[in-house]
Amino acid sequence: MLKFDSFYFQCPHCEAWLEGRNLKAEMVNQAILYSDGKVLNDNYITTPQKMILCPSCGHVFWIEHPVEPLITYEKPDAEVYSWNTWRFFGISFSDNKGKLALINHYKTFLKKSHYEPRNEIYLRRFLWWAYNDLHRNHQHVRLKYLLNGFMSFGVWHCNRKMILEGEKLFIKNYKDFTDNLKRLLALLEKHPEEQIDLELPEIYRELRQFDKVKELLEQTGSRTYFTSEMLRHAKWKDARVFMVSG
Ligand SMILES: [Zn+2]
Repeated sequence: MLKFDSFYFQCPHCEAWLEGRNLKAEMVNQAILYSDGKVLNDNYITTPQKMILCPSCGHVFWIEHPVEPLITYEKPDAEVYSWNTWRFFGISFSDNKGKLALINHYKTFLKKSHYEPRNEIYLRRFLWWAYNDLHRNHQHVRLKYLLNGFMSFGVWHCNRKMILEGEKLFIKNYKDFTDNLKRLLALLEKHPEEQIDLELPEIYRELRQFDKVKELLEQTGSRTYFTSEMLRHAKWKDARVFMVSG
């Protein structure tokens, strides 16, 4: 059974048709939440892609709200670019090369033009997540994951190699990572309506300002599994993105 509802929209420049997808909520088996706010449902990111690079003419455009009349649910009687051809600019994430390519796309977009704060926040948040993708699931390098029987030796070994290589790339790009995060933090502090839950303390944690994490979490007052995990990681002085639930 299909996990998605397809919808269709046109590039405003060349009028090519593109297929978009909405995940069907009732088909989701497993949702994973990471500390940076990225959520994966069955390995698909749930945050909609608002910025689109037309696979036909290269025009960049935004779809803020994928609703009619901008989109249609009826398949047009024309050639349609499938979701995979434009989603994340057609990049494959099966290796670190693809992950770096995504980072470079966001960096180029940010350099190319001036954006409204909410659009810049959107791009910088996705750039942050793209950097974190280089070493996301770092816990999988542990032997425990092989011994638990989650993966075969071949898969574990291959995955481990990719994550360790990704960690090196993350360190190599650390200055760019923190520059982006500092700019995102400044924007979010100015525009609190754009903040995702617990995004600020997480940014401070990833910027290694661990005392500030404690201070902010004490202000929020509520104690959840997420806040206590964040405090625990801050106490360890661990700044790496971690899996909250999944
Ligand atoms: Zn186009």
